Amino acid sequence: MLKDITLSKGISGHEAGCSRVVKKYLEGHVDEIGYDNLGSIFGVQKGNGKGSQPAPKVAIFGHMDEIGFYVREIEDCGYLRVVPAGGHWTHVLLDQEVLVTTREGKEIYGVLGFVPAHGLAPEVAKTVKDLDELYIDIGVCDKQEAEDAGIRIGDMVSLKTDFVEMENPNYLCSKAWDDRVGVAIAVDVVRQLTSAEHYADVYAVGSTQEEVGLRGAKTAAYTVCPDIGIAIDSTYARDVPGAKYGTNLGSGVTLSVMDGSVIGNRELIYYMEDICKECGIDFVYDLFLRGGTDSGEIHKTGSGIVNMTLSIPSRYIHAHRAIIHRKDYADTVSLLVEFCKRVDWDLVNKFRASNR
Ligand SMILES: [Zn+2]
Repeated sequence: MLKDITLSKGISGHEAGCSRVVKKYLEGHVDEIGYDNLGSIFGVQKGNGKGSQPAPKVAIFGHMDEIGFYVREIEDCGYLRVVPAGGHWTHVLLDQEVLVTTREGKEIYGVLGFVPAHGLAPEVAKTVKDLDELYIDIGVCDKQEAEDAGIRIGDMVSLKTDFVEMENPNYLCSKAWDDRVGVAIAVDVVRQLTSAEHYADVYAVGSTQEEVGLRGAKTAAYTVCPDIGIAIDSTYARDVPGAKYGTNLGSGVTLSVMDGSVIGNRELIYYMEDICKECGIDFVYDLFLRGGTDSGEIHKTGSGIVNMTLSIPSRYIHAHRAIIHRKDYADTVSLLVEFCKRVDWDLVNKFRASNR
């Protein structure tokens, strides 16, 4: 499931390739599957709410969109110029592989090109190129040939990477762990709850357009209208040379206190910590002043939604290849399954009263 979800193609605004995979893994484990009008998908597994009172709703969000590009121009010589969807670091773009998806759904292989260093003045060779200076080479002789292949302005360009279980198979390398790992966790939690008793209705939400400004989470949160909304997203890995922030791969659960878009609900964070201690799940804390996740929109929906973020440390996020650790995935799923089993109105009200 992780491989299928992470290798599906879906840049911001083009998430259908991912949501179809999500739908496949939700089917048979949820009572209902729905969408909002920006393409976010949700699957709900109804709880056994007591009596006539409606059950509280817990929604777990992962954003389906990955960073990529849109075709801006097809040059006369057949090279493609692109604009970014989401944040790219041009240091890591040169010579990487991409796939251009045409309107008809055909996938065309390309590489991000630039003049080799031998042909450049030494001072130019040392500089990092802007995205404007790079181009995609699909291996055609001119514009006509590119158009005959089906390429049009506005086509999606996604990063091309293999899924690899690394030397220590707990380390998984693939594209788009930001945030397909969150999507997979949301789906996995609902799947694992299939045979469990739970009072609350539990929603797995795959949101859209996070990388371009948390856009899909806004409409998805409005549509689902949860009582508790939890976003799962990537954070920086600290265990790489030169890193100052983030958490180490294999730490277990990462409880995010705050980032540039949200301050988590205090009681909810404490409660998550309590479950970890009770169940022997390893956990660490993380906090940032920058960045943002779906939580940044979720918590501001309506009159406010009880919310926090759980992070998955990922090496090399926003590059072609990122690396995560199975333990962080598995521990986060275990915590959320246990949490969802416990949610009732008393708990929701306790979280709501957090700052009173
Ligand atoms: Zn993300």
